[in-house]
Amino acid sequence: MSTYKDLGIKPFINAFDTITTMGGSLMPPEVVAAMAEAAGHFVDLFELNEKVGARIAELTRNEGACVTAGAACGLLLCAAAVMTGCDRALIDRLPDTTGMKNEILVHRCQRLGWQRPPRLSGARLVEFGGEEGTRREDLLSAFTERTAAVLYFASPLFERHALPLPEVISLAHERGVPVIVDAAANLPPASNLWAYTGMGADLAIFSGGKGLRGPQSSGLIVGKKALTDACRMNANPGGGVGRVAKVGKEEIMGLLAAVERFMSMDHDAELARREQWVARAVERLVDAGISARRVFPGIHGQTYPRVRVTLPSRARRDETLNALKAGEPSIVAGSYPDDPESIYLNPLTLQEGEMDIIVDRLLALLAQ
Ligand SMILES: *Cc1c(COP(=O)(O)O)cnc(C)c1O
Repeated sequence: MSTYKDLGIKPFINAFDTITTMGGSLMPPEVVAAMAEAAGHFVDLFELNEKVGARIAELTRNEGACVTAGAACGLLLCAAAVMTGCDRALIDRLPDTTGMKNEILVHRCQRLGWQRPPRLSGARLVEFGGEEGTRREDLLSAFTERTAAVLYFASPLFERHALPLPEVISLAHERGVPVIVDAAANLPPASNLWAYTGMGADLAIFSGGKGLRGPQSSGLIVGKKALTDACRMNANPGGGVGRVAKVGKEEIMGLLAAVERFMSMDHDAELARREQWVARAVERLVDAGISARRVFPGIHGQTYPRVRVTLPSRARRDETLNALKAGEPSIVAGSYPDDPESIYLNPLTLQEGEMDIIVDRLLALLAQ
């Protein structure tokens, strides 16, 4: 069996975030065990999808749920579901949407890379509002008789110039139009698994490989049962457009285990542990004369603290990031374009003891 090392690939400590290109998150032993157990038996995938969906719906206080191959695939399936419902003939016709309601409205200020996956369903994305602000009338005038849904990216980062989600839901529902919320990275808190749908959103999408710590190639859709059923019918093994994003029995059982773990774990204790790592890191850095402080919450409003270390210049920051990466063990710390002199340390993706290793290295690099 080849390892990363055999391939000449050097694993690193991830102090940045649950980032796809860095491997997402690390699966806890329960998730790995569930996948290994699932891998040893043949089952009917239709039945598995349906029963796991029902179980996750119950666990997350939703009417329905559907396991998918990543949140990006969730966007494709939700777009398909709002156009076809459970109508087999329409499902078989996608991505040809001739004669269907096929327009999905999205804020212009939320123009992210994530608008391509829903378009793969055949839906047309129609933007409303401006880059720097959105008025109620912008959304109102975008509705037509071909509107299939409004797609909303829920995060403080994406909502700055957008209408508030409750207002979008109320305006859409007055016209009988469903609302899809992409909340891929917005966990923890666990309550977000039902917060958006509780607010009235018809579908909400989460990544399985971020805060949930499920398989990296998994995702979760929760919401109205008629629509999550329609998502499932458009997916593998149903043979719809979502067939290209197959989720296997191992990922399905792995994601279920991840959701079960997430719903039963003591999030307060987990948060207290992260707060401890952050407090200790800040204290050690400040004691050495380095500018460091705790920031809260995460960039999408997630309930965890981070350490922000501010250096004298951008050049010094880049030099420090490079030295961390090049060292032994290799460390990838966080950085953001809007705060070019700071390094961020995120405990979400750290293991026990790693924060101390990072601080030791920072002290060695910066105390010179
Ligand atoms: C990460 C992310 C996705 C994609 O999630 P995957 O599970 O990697 O497919 C979609 N939307 C947003 C806002 C994200 O942050």
